[in-house]
Amino acid sequence: MKAMILKQPQQRLQPSDVGTPSIEANEVLVEVEACGVCRTDLHILDGELKNAKLPLIPGHEIVGKIVQLGKVVKGFKEGQRVGVPWLAYTCGKCSFCLNGQENLCDNAIFTGYTKNGGYGEYVVANENYCFAVPDKFDSISLAPLLCAGLIGWRSYRLAGDFKRLGMYGFGGAAHILTQIAHAQGKEIYAFTRPGDEKGQKFARQLGAVWAGDSTQAPPHPLDASIIFAPAGPLVLTALKSLRKGGAIICGGIHMSDIPAIPYDLLWGERIIRSVANLTREDARTFFETVERVPLKTSVTEYKLENANEALDDLRATRFEGAAVLSIRP
Ligand SMILES: [Zn+2]
Ligand SMILES: [Zn+2]
Repeated sequence: MKAMILKQPQQRLQPSDVGTPSIEANEVLVEVEACGVCRTDLHILDGELKNAKLPLIPGHEIVGKIVQLGKVVKGFKEGQRVGVPWLAYTCGKCSFCLNGQENLCDNAIFTGYTKNGGYGEYVVANENYCFAVPDKFDSISLAPLLCAGLIGWRSYRLAGDFKRLGMYGFGGAAHILTQIAHAQGKEIYAFTRPGDEKGQKFARQLGAVWAGDSTQAPPHPLDASIIFAPAGPLVLTALKSLRKGGAIICGGIHMSDIPAIPYDLLWGERIIRSVANLTREDARTFFETVERVPLKTSVTEYKLENANEALDDLRATRFEGAAVLSIRP
């Protein structure tokens, strides 16, 4: 099968022809139709996330059709369309798994990071960690929901009970969450890179009540903010506009250092927390919500062999919304 392969961090992906993988009894073989390109892929490529399996087929926002079922697979049929997310396996035995926090599992395996992902024609998934996906989206539009949507949703839920929510970094996740938040009667305040008027216009079109530069203060204090951009200084910026008792959620897997925080800014029971991975329960509630709200993903499509270009464009913010590799349309 054709695949784009990372041989070493800080190198370009190599177009390669590799054997189609075989499956275990509890796995399914998925013919990949679409795979989203996520900022986490950049952190893996750059070597900011350690311990990647090498060589690696990246990609963890996968939509495709099941073409082969393992011997004991019960939950799926051949030909069925499924989504394969970042969380590929958890042990079910560690204290986190036993406490409903499988996203923190000590022995977790991650798609497109510690096992091969969707930048290729086929991917193997454990039947317990992939799921049926809503019919109302084609595979290309659906792919960004598998991480930007899902982990964005976990961030959104951890932001607590809010009316006014800030989002720093208006990319794949923010463009999905803004539509959900708008449908739920929340107010979104979108912060982009300074001078990114196109991005701000895009945010307002999707329902943000206010959009501006990350250097600007919003017109009111905010109840919570999610930071998607991997820039630590934004934590300090966001705290300055956060009301007492509010929360700052860092939604990315990697971030540059956070500068020293004057205690006055944190005082008043303000919270700063990170979000790690997802649970299958997040996926269940997310897709339930997605079925009920009007949602349209904004997608720029690339061919599999142009994955490097898609990653370059993501790094340089050259598109709105999300990038998706179209693999078998
Ligand atoms: Zn575990
Ligand atoms: Zn991701």
